[in-house]
Amino acid sequence: MDTPPGFYVIGTPIGNLEDMTYRAVRTLGEVDLLLAEDTRKTGILLQRYEIHKPMRSCHEFNEASRVAGVIAELEAGKAVGLVSDAGMPLISDPGARIVSAVREAGFPITAIPGPTALTTALSLSGWGGDGFVFAGFPPNKSAGRRRLLTEFVEEKRPVVLYESTHRIQKLMADIQEILGERSVFFARELTKKFETLQMGTAAELAAFLDTHSSKGEFVVILGPLSGK
Ligand code: SAM
Repeated sequence: MDTPPGFYVIGTPIGNLEDMTYRAVRTLGEVDLLLAEDTRKTGILLQRYEIHKPMRSCHEFNEASRVAGVIAELEAGKAVGLVSDAGMPLISDPGARIVSAVREAGFPITAIPGPTALTTALSLSGWGGDGFVFAGFPPNKSAGRRRLLTEFVEEKRPVVLYESTHRIQKLMADIQEILGERSVFFARELTKKFETLQMGTAAELAAFLDTHSSKGEFVVILGPLSGK
């Protein structure tokens, strides 16, 4: 067993269940306890790799109440893993409070890196070589979303956003209004059966989504100002 006591932040696939590292599979198999955003979803992944592991839920509504229990497990010399539903924990996902508390308590924290939607989309966009901004999910309401987009009018670096199927067309409409002809890239359903990549102005992407499926998960990247 190569997994000593401590806290492990474990990356899992963003869609395709084959996107697991050997190290992630081994670590999931060796930790004593797994904290999972949704134990049912993580259960599907564990089943795929024939891993049987005690799990506890850890999501935005109960994360704070999980801290004491996790510290107690670490004090007892256990190895505790953290996974989210997809990709890297803490990247627009729960875990920040627990990681901070574990660090403050002085226990070792180890990352088992895996895919994350933002870097996967950036690699496909052709942008990002000279840095980028990651802004996570824009606000749900249009006024907040427009305020956020206004901050990027002068931004020279590409800006990466996460968006759900429900608001993708609203986001395109607001980008069109605030950023006009700026090049925009979207990656839909990365690593999954219906993966779709498109680049164009927000108006062109909105027209594309009118005639194609807009179901699923999206990464939207506002192109760099220079258009390079
Ligand atoms: N922790 C995840 C990561 O490392 O990318 C992000 C979790 S966040 C709650 C979920 C959002 O990430 C989705 O709404 C979407 O914007 C983006 N996302 C996750 N998986 C994706 C995929 N396969 N294709 C496109 N976007 C994805």
